Amino acid sequence: MNSFNYYQPKNIEDLFDLQECSADNYRLLAGGTDLLVRLKSGSITPEAIIDIKRIPSLNSGISIEADKVTFGALTLMATLESDEFLEENYPALTEAVHNIGSVQIRNRATIAGNLCNASPAADSAPALLIYDASVVCVSRKGERTLPLQEFIKGPGKTALVSNEIVKQIVMPLPSQNQAGAFSRLTRRKGVDLATINLCCQVNQTGKARFALGAVGPVPFIVEENEGLLLSTDISSEVKKSIISKLMEKATPISDVRASKEYRQAMLTVLGWRAFNTAIERLQNKI
Ligand SMILES: Cc1cc2nc3c(=O)[nH]c(=O)nc-3n(C[C@H](O)[C@H](O)[C@H](O)COP(=O)(O)OP(=O)(O)OC[C@H]3O[C@@H](n4cnc5c(N)ncnc54)[C@H](O)[C@@H]3O)c2cc1C
Repeated sequence: MNSFNYYQPKNIEDLFDLQECSADNYRLLAGGTDLLVRLKSGSITPEAIIDIKRIPSLNSGISIEADKVTFGALTLMATLESDEFLEENYPALTEAVHNIGSVQIRNRATIAGNLCNASPAADSAPALLIYDASVVCVSRKGERTLPLQEFIKGPGKTALVSNEIVKQIVMPLPSQNQAGAFSRLTRRKGVDLATINLCCQVNQTGKARFALGAVGPVPFIVEENEGLLLSTDISSEVKKSIISKLMEKATPISDVRASKEYRQAMLTVLGWRAFNTAIERLQNKI
């Protein structure tokens, strides 16, 4: 590993000073579960590492308000996984986070780190997408809030501009007439990145939507708005074919995890699974 200067600012102003002095040749360190792998492999060689873990305004944990839930950037996957309010109101997110890495990884990995790494296979992203999450970004110039769809720009690319960081993730409280579920395909049962990850959300109004990960450059949403998937007059076979048609919007590639043909075929299988779990959850609410 190349040598670098290590800094640990104790507040956001000190962070902004350090960023300005480091002339873009720095990396932020949160949990380090992605960053350290890249540092050790030599794929990045920054002159400075700025450890943001001691900055209180990034460490606000989970806060629940009347109409929204906010996570501080440094909220750990383990914290999200064990939160009962999230499990009850955002079960697809709890399931997604529970599937990330191992207990050790979830005790280090942060939610903002997962989004800023911008892997197409990031497990938190599809769940955050179906729950309409936004990302609060901050720099010395001020704050701005971006819908998650606009935040992830491509593999390894986000909408963050120079010296801007993620401060919080915000999700509106979901209405009672919707339900969601997460589904994931991996090559093995142990620790592995997703070959596909997917969330489904169904709504009593008839709307069904799927957020898809690892089958395109960025996680994205496909929707069925005509109420066909929630109709009781339509057979399972027809519903599966509707899901299959929706999944044609994916653009999977072949890589070490799977061929594009296998990914495309499995999207319908995972979509059908998540759809049925979401429907079951919706019926339990009625
Ligand atoms: C063994 C192993 C298994 C894994 N399994 C999974 C898995 O199953 N699913 C999955 O989705 N991921 C997995 N990961 C990836 C990783 O754990 C997650 O992406 C994690 O959430 C990254 O968070 P972090 O705090 O560790 O980020 P870091 O590694 O500290 O940072 C990641 C990137 O984000 C930037 N960054 C961090 N915080 C901020 C911020 N607030 N503002 C701006 N930039 C920021 C950093 O500069 C860096 O570029 C795995 C990793 C390992 C090593």
